[in-house]
Amino acid sequence: MADMRLEKQPMPQLAPEIRNKNFEEVALGYTEEQAVAEANRCLQCKHQPCVGGCPVQIDIPAFIQKVQQRDFEGAYQIISAQSALPAVCGRVCPQETQCEGKCVRGIKGEPVAIGRLERFVADWHMANVKEPPVKPESNGKKIAIIGSGPAGLTCAGDLARKGYEVTVFEALHVAGGVLVYGIPEFRLPKAIVAKEIEGLKAMGVKVETNMVIGRVLSVDDLFAMGFEGIFIGSGAGLPRFMGIPGENLKGVFSANEYLTRVNLMKAYLPDSETPIQRGKKVAVVGGGNVAMDAARCAKRLGAEEVYIVYRRSMEEIPARAEEIHHAIEEGIIFKTLTNPTEILGDEHQNVVGMTCLEMELGAPDESGRRRPMVKEGSEHRLDTDVVIMAIGTSPNPLIRSTTPGLETNKWGCIVTEEESGKTSREGVYAGGDAVTGAATVILAMGAGKQAAKAIDEYLK
Ligand code: FAD
Ligand code: SF4
Ligand code: SF4
Repeated sequence: MADMRLEKQPMPQLAPEIRNKNFEEVALGYTEEQAVAEANRCLQCKHQPCVGGCPVQIDIPAFIQKVQQRDFEGAYQIISAQSALPAVCGRVCPQETQCEGKCVRGIKGEPVAIGRLERFVADWHMANVKEPPVKPESNGKKIAIIGSGPAGLTCAGDLARKGYEVTVFEALHVAGGVLVYGIPEFRLPKAIVAKEIEGLKAMGVKVETNMVIGRVLSVDDLFAMGFEGIFIGSGAGLPRFMGIPGENLKGVFSANEYLTRVNLMKAYLPDSETPIQRGKKVAVVGGGNVAMDAARCAKRLGAEEVYIVYRRSMEEIPARAEEIHHAIEEGIIFKTLTNPTEILGDEHQNVVGMTCLEMELGAPDESGRRRPMVKEGSEHRLDTDVVIMAIGTSPNPLIRSTTPGLETNKWGCIVTEEESGKTSREGVYAGGDAVTGAATVILAMGAGKQAAKAIDEYLK
């Protein structure tokens, strides 16, 4: 008989007034007892709606049943049949719009905490199962993966397991993509990503960092070097700006640059040599996960006031519900229905504020969300000394401009066949944000998995 409590087992977490001054992980994870109690809320539905909400179709009721039975390793084996990075997905998937959004327990009360259970199972496995992964026998075929984000790592892992000799080429000096340069330590500890990458290396995957494909080597060079299949998982790391006056002032950052300095280049550590501007008043423009991460980092770097400036209302805000909740708890101020029109500077070109307009929502636009419209006579000034732009990214043009015959669309995304990730170039596959534009970790992983299957079929 299922436990019919309406609420999830609460997640133990650091207190907001303590955590907004450090970079330690906010959510501490369930104990075994809490995990079993939460698993007991699952009704083991025959039609399994939750599975349909997961982009990689993890057998959710089956893994939860194993947790109910305290067979945590059994649960891990079920999850890992579909997901290469469960410790990551359990932490960062937007569960409320995916698996948990479909859970029947959510109709009356809170859904089963599927993400928290997935995280528990993955962390339990990491802490308790020490067997190194088995290195498969080589089939002698070489594959190149461009980019070491979730798409590239998943594709690499699946192909390595099938015996391919896989080399991952990463432009940055550390592998992991957004998982290491974007998502902050307090949401996703980097040791977890490093451990996943060590696991791939133990299976024989080679990781070459500081290798910008399109500069150091081209796609054609990789074929000439004997790679028979190539997967492009180069993400969408090129930041967008608003095109308003003042964006070149000192103190204006793209969220990508700001987060890279803080996370990858560890600007938050007291002995770090990475320069970062620690503003007293920081305005982050945007309402997605990237904006929440930048705002929460700015607060931890000592800002007294941090604003999220978002042109629609709280109802349309796209960030994960948990991140918004945590940001509010940590003292981030939400200025919704507000749009900047100019960034203001002093005589030394330092940011001193922004001119903003208030907005109201009209009829839905082509995205289905209500269109923000300017409220007459609403111009006002917001004082700030740092502005962080988090209004979206697109794929970097480097690979498409150096790969003849690679078809891309008007947004610069690589065009692929939906089921396989096959591109217009023979032997070249692609997936993740490089194809979809900025999306989610689990969708990137799903694309990496699909492409690995297709590359294997192609080379057989
Ligand atoms: P990426 O993770 O971007 O990895 C691409 C890699 O390719 C990078 O390491 C890059 O350096 C490398 N590369 C690029 N060009 C080249 C080249 N020419 N040669 C070699 N290497 C190259 N998603 C969620 O699901 N939940 C979240 O909470 C969430 N939060 C986010 C927070 C932030 C700050 C950001 C930026 C994104 C967030 N996302 C989140 C989105 C998610 O991280 C991405 O959708 C996902 O990482 C895409 O994976 P990917 O493998 O396609 O690309
Ligand atoms: Fe839910 Fe993400 Fe896990 Fe799928 S991978 S079950 S969407 S947390
Ligand atoms: Fe369990 Fe919810 Fe899935 Fe039903 S929908 S099997 S209650 S997780």
